[in-house]
Amino acid sequence: MDELLQQIEAYRKEVEGYEISNLQQLEEFRIKFLGSKGLTKSLFSEMKNVPSEKKKEFGQVLNEFKQLAEEKFENAKELTTDNKLSAKEDLDLSLPGDAVQIGSRHPVTLVRNRIVSIFQRLGFSVADGPEIEDDWHNFTALNLPQNHPARDMQDTFYIHQNPDWLLRTHTSNVQIREMEKGRLPIRIICPGRVYRNETISARSHCFFHQVEGLYIDENVSFADLKQTLYFFVQEMFGKDVKVRFRPSYFPFTEPSAEMDVSCFICGGKGCRICKQTGWVEILGCGMVHPKVLENCGIDSNKYTGYAFGMGIERPALLLYDINDIRLFSENDARFLRQFGTAT
Ligand SMILES: [Zn+2]
Repeated sequence: MDELLQQIEAYRKEVEGYEISNLQQLEEFRIKFLGSKGLTKSLFSEMKNVPSEKKKEFGQVLNEFKQLAEEKFENAKELTTDNKLSAKEDLDLSLPGDAVQIGSRHPVTLVRNRIVSIFQRLGFSVADGPEIEDDWHNFTALNLPQNHPARDMQDTFYIHQNPDWLLRTHTSNVQIREMEKGRLPIRIICPGRVYRNETISARSHCFFHQVEGLYIDENVSFADLKQTLYFFVQEMFGKDVKVRFRPSYFPFTEPSAEMDVSCFICGGKGCRICKQTGWVEILGCGMVHPKVLENCGIDSNKYTGYAFGMGIERPALLLYDINDIRLFSENDARFLRQFGTAT
């Protein structure tokens, strides 16, 4: 026992006198005294040979020694790291830094933001919903019951574990969810990603983006719908743009219409983009079908509303003269970097 205490005393002196002036010496010190095969560790393993009445005293001495070695190590570590820095006296703080690469907004984001900000100025607020949806919110509540032929136009991807789940084919599910909340009036726009089971080509993709709008209140008429959309296209494409409505069919609106704008590339004269017609189809719209209102618990005798929906990729292709929709999702930085100054 006394022998061990003498030994510790000798080590204590060694620690105190140990000179550490660089990182290598610091590491040598650590290995010798504090490492997993170091002296402190081996002294602790001697504990079992110490008679039990002396264990307390020995433990105390040993702990003090360990603390001393650790303190020495920490202090030396701070000093040697500081030294390392001050040794770099050739550091020139006046040199210019490395340029930070500033990214650019994605063209789809640019167009979405433009559409959203126009409707926000008209008092619409942005609503969001899930991309994995159940059959009710994506189809049935929208007057598209099971086996309805209009479902064929919107074939999508189903979730294997639960056939009731699917990837939404439009952002109309957000409209249904808002209407189900029962807080009226409703004036929302729903931007988001949607999915269709379509062959991928230069003109179509299995996922794309939409912005839909919904306004429900008392005495909302088709005239309100026309005026709102007319204001929108003027803000979006310019004051000179003309619009035309063509009768159409959607299960969730009655009456329904497709809206065209005069081609903003050729000004209506006819070009490659508008296929020489002078018109570009831009969105679908209509008065919300009374059955959809009733499905969501809204009194269709008291309330009416309009809804509209448009893709984002299509106007983005036209506005930036892009010829392939796949470019939007290929993450090619050379393509994306071109939009650094676009608005
Ligand atoms: Zn044209």
